[in-house]
Amino acid sequence: MTETALRETLCHLAGSLFDRGLTHGSTGNISARTDDGGLLVSPTGTSFGRLDPARLSRFDAQGRHIGGDAPTKEMPLHTAFYDTRGTAGAVVHLHPCHSVTLSMMADADADNFLPPLTPYGIMQLGRVKLLPFFMPGDPAMGDAIRGLAGKRAAVMLANHGPVVAGKTLETACNAIEELEATAKLALMTRGLPVRGLTDAQVQSVVRRFDVEWDA
Ligand code: ZN
Repeated sequence: MTETALRETLCHLAGSLFDRGLTHGSTGNISARTDDGGLLVSPTGTSFGRLDPARLSRFDAQGRHIGGDAPTKEMPLHTAFYDTRGTAGAVVHLHPCHSVTLSMMADADADNFLPPLTPYGIMQLGRVKLLPFFMPGDPAMGDAIRGLAGKRAAVMLANHGPVVAGKTLETACNAIEELEATAKLALMTRGLPVRGLTDAQVQSVVRRFDVEWDA
């Protein structure tokens, strides 16, 4: 993909997420690998609804800021995924209401944040790690992701929002939408006599779709 097309795709997908209420105000940030090993990143203080392809922060392969506006303050979330997951071509972070609500539940499972309700969350996200609460902008958030050694594609920051890495912008955005949709199902079924997937069904999905699951 040319850099021009990558810039337009990034802004288009961010606008679509914003238009559907998956992040609001100036929350959320998104980045993508360029063909030369650099990065395009949404600038600090911008809204997903109004990103300008020409003003995205541009980094070179050595991580130097070489163009565009200053990047998001949550840059450590992005670099932690790129540095630990060689397959990561894009990273997206949102503040979606259902995922954040589920992260505040006292009985949330820190090692496997999403309950196994449908196959799709498993297929697209693997096991999602729930990380503790950090102050906004705390670089320790990036350290916590680095501590997972690239073994997870998705994390949930408690009382804050999910961060998901994917091979492309489309796969990362599809996966974070699946995370939010699964969190919504978990809240809708909370307290009801739910029949989720059995352990055997989960393992069948993991094998059939070659999901990273055991890390
Ligand atoms: Zn955030």
